[in-house]
Amino acid sequence: MAEHATRLEIAARADLVARLAARHAERIAEGLGRRLRTVEAAHGARVVIDGRELVAFSGNDYLGLAVHPAVREAFVAGAARWGVGATAAHLLGGHRAPHAELEAMLAEWTGREAALTFSTGWMANLGVVATLLGEGELCVEDKLNHACLIDGAKLAGAELKRYPHRDVEAAARRLRARPGVPALLATDGVFSMDGDLAPLVELAELAHAERATLMVDDAHGLGVLGPDGAGSVAAAGLTADEVPVLMATFGKALGTFGAVVAGSRALVDALVQFARTHVYTTAMPPALACATIAAVRVARMEPWRREQLARLVRHFRLGARDRGLSLLDSTTPIQPVLVGDARRATRLADALAERGFFVPAIRPPTVPPGSARLRVTLSALHAETDVERLLDALADAWRASDAD
Ligand SMILES: *Cc1c(COP(=O)(O)O)cnc(C)c1O
Repeated sequence: MAEHATRLEIAARADLVARLAARHAERIAEGLGRRLRTVEAAHGARVVIDGRELVAFSGNDYLGLAVHPAVREAFVAGAARWGVGATAAHLLGGHRAPHAELEAMLAEWTGREAALTFSTGWMANLGVVATLLGEGELCVEDKLNHACLIDGAKLAGAELKRYPHRDVEAAARRLRARPGVPALLATDGVFSMDGDLAPLVELAELAHAERATLMVDDAHGLGVLGPDGAGSVAAAGLTADEVPVLMATFGKALGTFGAVVAGSRALVDALVQFARTHVYTTAMPPALACATIAAVRVARMEPWRREQLARLVRHFRLGARDRGLSLLDSTTPIQPVLVGDARRATRLADALAERGFFVPAIRPPTVPPGSARLRVTLSALHAETDVERLLDALADAWRASDAD
């Protein structure tokens, strides 16, 4: 066995950057290139891109809290009091009073014993899934789960079994195929690109019957759904025993940044020990925790935001139906307009921008081939007239693209 690579082997070795550039060129040629656009200014749901003001139906700030005065002021006051950075990982002095206060608040809101903050939702999911599951154990997930839930299973070295979207019977078959193997059943509460809800009650029954542990990623549910905005799990009436692992993010309805895993005291205490994405990373800035505390208060104390959102969702759906637009089966503020063809979706997004609206086209590989869509998201910041004008622009752009 030669210790050193031969000249021939070295010559055959790919230049990784060149290979990546070739892959990129291929994606562009397929018409699936992603565009990074810079928002030059933002005023609530209005954004300026390429010097033009557009009404954005693209963000996840469902309640309008990213710009709420109380949330901004809490952020500024938090920075004045604590500085900008947490200066260290949680275990090494970075865990500040606002983190602890926020965790207590989230545990109470979601009806769990305890909660632990993470710097992002991505890190929360990687951390919790890779901590719960060992090599070769079973992770059963909905095919449309968020990418980071999928990556968590890969990081754990678990056997990842995905079931067709919302198909509880298929999930059951995957669990039963490996009886006795420790299993996590993980689902989004609200699916981020479709806006529909997981069949949580049925999944909880299945998890119970098969002795699997149920985990729900409620990134798009917390703040929006359920009594008091406590999320999709609360909306389904499920207890902490039925959903022992609950994850949610702050970057969506709470309008800030970061994430939480809520559950039993035993779960949270163990995550502090073992979750590598919590242990080996700088704690989120304390000012962000301050802002998130304020956001939770507003989310709970101003139910009119959820009511306004529900009105806009109804208005959008009825208006889309009247105009013959094809929507997905969603009751949440995520209201995708199904297009199908990826290039047409891009053309429609461009046509909407010309008409003053920013609505992103979501194409493969983010969504399955042939299911490209315009991902319309609604926010309490929108007025009914914004929605009405968007609907007209959509119908108009749709007709124009039919003629293409
Ligand atoms: C946004 C999102 C995440 C990731 O959260 P970040 O805080 O943005 O990293 C995880 N899961 C779902 C379902 C999401 O929509």
